[in-house]
Amino acid sequence: MNAPDTLTALGPRSSTAEIPGLVAWEMIRTLIGFDTTSRESNLALIDWVRGYLESHGAQCTLTFDDDRRKANLFATLPSKDGNAMVGGIVLSGHTDVVPVDGQSWDTNPFEATLIGDRVFGRGVTDMKSFSATGLAMVPEFLRRGLARPLHFALSYDEEIGCIGVRRLIDDIVARGVKPLGCIVGEPTGMELVVAHKGKKSWRCRVRGHEAHSALTPLGVNAVQIACEIVTYLTNMARAFRDQGEYDDAYDVPFTTVHTGVIHGGTALNIVPRDCHFDFEIRYLPFDDPDELFAEVEAYARRFLPEMRKVDSDTYVAFDALSAMPGFDTHGESEIASLGRALGEATGFRKVSFGTEASRFHSAAIPAIVCGPGHIAQAHQPNEWVAVDQLRRCEAFMRRLVDRIAAA
Ligand SMILES: [Zn+2]
Repeated sequence: MNAPDTLTALGPRSSTAEIPGLVAWEMIRTLIGFDTTSRESNLALIDWVRGYLESHGAQCTLTFDDDRRKANLFATLPSKDGNAMVGGIVLSGHTDVVPVDGQSWDTNPFEATLIGDRVFGRGVTDMKSFSATGLAMVPEFLRRGLARPLHFALSYDEEIGCIGVRRLIDDIVARGVKPLGCIVGEPTGMELVVAHKGKKSWRCRVRGHEAHSALTPLGVNAVQIACEIVTYLTNMARAFRDQGEYDDAYDVPFTTVHTGVIHGGTALNIVPRDCHFDFEIRYLPFDDPDELFAEVEAYARRFLPEMRKVDSDTYVAFDALSAMPGFDTHGESEIASLGRALGEATGFRKVSFGTEASRFHSAAIPAIVCGPGHIAQAHQPNEWVAVDQLRRCEAFMRRLVDRIAAA
């Protein structure tokens, strides 16, 4: 017997029903149908999209990972006067999706399924619908003719640290492609996002000295020292919340410090020898993460003399885990004004989650983030996007057609 279906209340389900007036629906279904979980190859999707774009006359360049199992696709529809290099608009999306392992889904995650006014499937929000909408508009862009180049930048391995897109960007910079700006279609509810925080993360490893817990002075307790450092980080977080500089355009308007994992000890009657924990700093542009990290390191060093009185091999060590730069495209920049015009928005927002926008920004390609769906629906079982968001995305693309059409 089947478990009761919580989605039934939304209406009948269908993966083939039409969504009246939504041109991109067929393309969304196609892209969702490729299982591009980050650990898998994305080449089937890339080859399909490349075939589609080349059949419309696009110039395509692939950049591969070391094993040639995954690829980025950079495609250009040149302007009417043959310009493929300068002043174009980049539509950027990652092709990979997070795993569905261990999640309970009520629909097939790799089949876009319409139920009521929502579409379910892995990647419908994060973030195949945006790319699909841009791709579905290609015939319309061509019919109108382009006054400036239009590029597609489809990447691999975004979900595991924005890895793939770096090769794509290196390649276009090396080839002298100089776009006017880039629109990254991560889910923002179709609101214009012009900045996100930077993020750095580290692992702290504390090596103490084992002893019987009845004889604690003979040991060095790695768990307790680690916890003192974690408390230092917690106090740092409180200080930013209570006294830090704010930027109210952000969802969380101050720099945050967070410890997410801690492992230590083996048994209650043993003074623990090892403990490690992972922490991150998500910082606003006016806070320097390296300076903050140096403070944490200096605090940790204070424990060493006492530790080494017991055992000279004890230590506190830090390993850098990841670094994602932040970015802030000025709200009055050309690409931000374009984003406002396309989205019919008046204001802009800044967010705390990272995207590939910062990588484009670092390569002197001004970027904004705007895409259908909400980040809260990403990475979840039964990931969904509202049909209304898809319509808004399509309207955004149509206005882009109007903006960059030759006539
Ligand atoms: Zn994403």
